[in-house]
Amino acid sequence: MFLRKTTAVLATVAALSIGVVGTAQAARTLTYNLSGAAQYTADIDAGAKVWNDNVQNVKLVKTTSTRANIIIVADDGWPRAQTTSLGNGRVWMGKQAIDQGYNKTRIAAHELGHILGLPDIKPGPCSSLMSGASAGVPCTNPVPNAAEKSRVERNFAGTAVVRTATFEDAA
Ligand SMILES: [Zn+2]
Repeated sequence: MFLRKTTAVLATVAALSIGVVGTAQAARTLTYNLSGAAQYTADIDAGAKVWNDNVQNVKLVKTTSTRANIIIVADDGWPRAQTTSLGNGRVWMGKQAIDQGYNKTRIAAHELGHILGLPDIKPGPCSSLMSGASAGVPCTNPVPNAAEKSRVERNFAGTAVVRTATFEDAA
């Protein structure tokens, strides 16, 4: 049993290594669950669509399963995200920022950006998605800039993918 598992992991690593050197590989699919997202489901779908329209190596798909990669909930605090590993974690659509007038699609896309491995880049201009609230309330841009897009593409084309997949298989 242990040997068979090890073999499967090694096979995954080998396949992904081939992908890194240039062989075409399928986008990694991450599921997200909006059961606790209250009135923000359409905004979060819009934020997920931004990523699906702007990167190729990862795809976000909505699910009702509680075993989703990303659990998204609404609460009264500030928006935030907690990643357990690349592509996995929890997002809070904090009402406090929404009540202050920050754009909901930008909030959702920004928090999903954290799950996709991006850090905050604050302060920063409105053209940067990861500048977050530092770009001010009038900023409604939900689209990552070229550097943010390419960093996510790299995250999901490289060895970080192997580490995540191996960890899940072992559990
Ligand atoms: Zn942030």
